[in-house]
Amino acid sequence: MEREIYMDYAATTFIKPEVLEEMNPYLTQYFGNPSSIYHISRKTKAAVDIARDRIASAINSRGDEIYFTSGGSEADNWAIKGIAFANKDKGNHIITSCIEHHAVLHTCEYLEDQGFEVTYLPVNEQGIIKIDDLKNAITDKTILVSIMFANNEIGTIEPIKEIGEICREKGIIFHSDAVQAVGNVPIDVKDMKIDLLSMASHKFYGPKGMGALYVRKGIKIHNLIHGGAQERARRAGTENVAGIVGMGKAVELAAQNMKNESKRLESLRDKLIGGLLKIPGARLNGAVGDKRLPGNVNISFEDIEGDVLLMSLDSLGVCASSGSACSAGAIEPSQVLLSIGLSKEMAKGALRLTIGSRTTEEEVDYLLEVIPSIIERIRKNRM
Ligand SMILES: *Cc1c(COP(=O)(O)O)cnc(C)c1O
Repeated sequence: MEREIYMDYAATTFIKPEVLEEMNPYLTQYFGNPSSIYHISRKTKAAVDIARDRIASAINSRGDEIYFTSGGSEADNWAIKGIAFANKDKGNHIITSCIEHHAVLHTCEYLEDQGFEVTYLPVNEQGIIKIDDLKNAITDKTILVSIMFANNEIGTIEPIKEIGEICREKGIIFHSDAVQAVGNVPIDVKDMKIDLLSMASHKFYGPKGMGALYVRKGIKIHNLIHGGAQERARRAGTENVAGIVGMGKAVELAAQNMKNESKRLESLRDKLIGGLLKIPGARLNGAVGDKRLPGNVNISFEDIEGDVLLMSLDSLGVCASSGSACSAGAIEPSQVLLSIGLSKEMAKGALRLTIGSRTTEEEVDYLLEVIPSIIERIRKNRM
């Protein structure tokens, strides 16, 4: 059999067998609409409520603060547009960072067209926003701060609790895109003073097209999807019951395994980073230690086109990424890498390897064996 090494867990994950097993009955046997009142519907409604509670307990919220969505993008869109439109009598200013996912950045750009003003905070060379920049950006018109929990390209974890405390003190609503963080690092929305938090099931071994938005009790938000009275009349549409069940099981598994799994991934991550940095002209993008997601490796190589490197790796059965999957195909260098101070050339020479539950030490060793010679060959061919 041909070798297959998947190192793109930040783009998406497979569904764990235990997750699929819990989903299956809700695709075939218990297919009732949760809004109906007969017995198979009572069963589906109960399953949705259990999943809601599992997700709530993973972030220390209440079940009635969790709203299911079609994924991370919808959660981000809803949080930002919903808060902006519900609070436009109070002000029109939004603060975010320049390294957010497109689901946040493009939503903010849309709102700029609608008359809102957006400040895009810069980041330092590790990809961390400066707290003083945030404090200085706040005006009496600021209604929302949206800062991601952890970055999808370089794995940098932002100072979320500090941001939350500043926002709460000033009475500004704080949203965090935690799509890369949920299931990988501990999250406590109460302790971190987060008002809204986006998540996506397919980033932690649940099904695709499934996400959730946490909205703290009492926060005023407009609907994004109008229609029926599902999700306490805040998000219309017949529930994706199997997806919801899968997301609930996946988050529960992630919480149970988090301590051990993050230790294991950190040690594989650091072995990969250490080995790749021995290659001449290599540089690590992002932060080190506990300011970096356990499964993220992002290295730039001088005189290398990331896409050429990716094709060579693909021919060996290795799935990796050069920037974020969402912008693959775009010729422009990654905005995130430019924001942390890389030249266009070094940004284009980036390789992102994101590891996860099926990653083994043998796979890491194999990559450390083949990448140096691939790089050497590509550089030779350029000359
Ligand atoms: C994947 C991702 C999203 C988008 O989630 P989808 O479920 O694919 O819509 C948003 N933000 C971040 C940080 C992501 O990594």
